[in-house]
Amino acid sequence: MVVVMEPKVQEVKIQNVIEHLKEMGFEIHRSDGVTHTIIGAIGDKTGIDIRQLEILEGVHEVIRITDPNKLSSRSFKKEDTIIDINGVKIGGDEVVVAAGPCAVESREQISIIAKAVKKYGGKILRGGAFKPRTSPYSFQGMGETGLKLLREAATKHELLMITEVIDVSQISLVSEYADILQIGARNMQNFMLLAEVGKLRKPVLLKRGMSSTIKEWLMASEYILKGGNQNVILCERGIRTFEDYTRNTLDISAVPVIKKLSHLPIFTDPSHGTGIRDKVIPMARASIAAGADGLIVEVHHDPDHAKSDGAQSLYPEQFDEMMKELQIIAKAVGRFID
Ligand code: PEP
Ligand code: MN
Repeated sequence: MVVVMEPKVQEVKIQNVIEHLKEMGFEIHRSDGVTHTIIGAIGDKTGIDIRQLEILEGVHEVIRITDPNKLSSRSFKKEDTIIDINGVKIGGDEVVVAAGPCAVESREQISIIAKAVKKYGGKILRGGAFKPRTSPYSFQGMGETGLKLLREAATKHELLMITEVIDVSQISLVSEYADILQIGARNMQNFMLLAEVGKLRKPVLLKRGMSSTIKEWLMASEYILKGGNQNVILCERGIRTFEDYTRNTLDISAVPVIKKLSHLPIFTDPSHGTGIRDKVIPMARASIAAGADGLIVEVHHDPDHAKSDGAQSLYPEQFDEMMKELQIIAKAVGRFID
């Protein structure tokens, strides 16, 4: 970290800053220029609130040199993280697609959809059993029965299974059934939940909060990594902007930004990212072209009667079409879809 003092500042103010930095445990390297004094502070600044320094008298600017997101950053780990889940490698050359309904609704529904997901090249079955709904009057999910149905359908069709965990109290139950735990947008800053899944070694897909910056999202991932769980997949699922034509604005640029800042794999969710069925495939194409490691997409065989998110769910035939197009795009950017 570097503290730049105001021009021709009095020595007493410089000494005051140096004292503060020493109290914070930093080693000091001072350099006096013609107008500015610059104080280099060497040491671990992960937990430091730089505003404490910015408000000191005579301070012009405080510049962080290392990332506050320590464990998720590229400077901490140069190589891409590849998460191997029963032979499915996430974050490597293969583009991995998770697909399924927003929520599991019945054995028949999930088995029809799981069959289509497998047939058209999906590797992971998605489906919510515990749903974080905006309205308490909306369908809340089937709970444990839903978990059982998801597991049954995934196992039958040799798919991995991802489902959301919305509360600390459900972690052990959901972990019994799921191969990947999803932390939803609304829970991105549920720090207790993040810390608890950090104690596991089960992969976690961490969605970006709908009003969160990329830095906040990376700091959220840090809670999981700090507990020792290195198996974190980030997922861009659309953010709130002033645009209200689509349900959210899928921030495709987050993909190359994350690739630069972090070694963690990144997925996108073009379903929640747009909220409109016919916008899902174009954004899926764009995501893979931008370098996403995978997608999570909603698919339903009867979306008009879906209990949630039917309007943004692809028909199985559309999922097939999307996968064929993505194969071509993946190849063009040096990746593949198996
Ligand atoms: C979901 O995947 O169904 C979901 C609720 O996602 P998000 O947390 O992105 O809204
Ligand atoms: Mn949904």
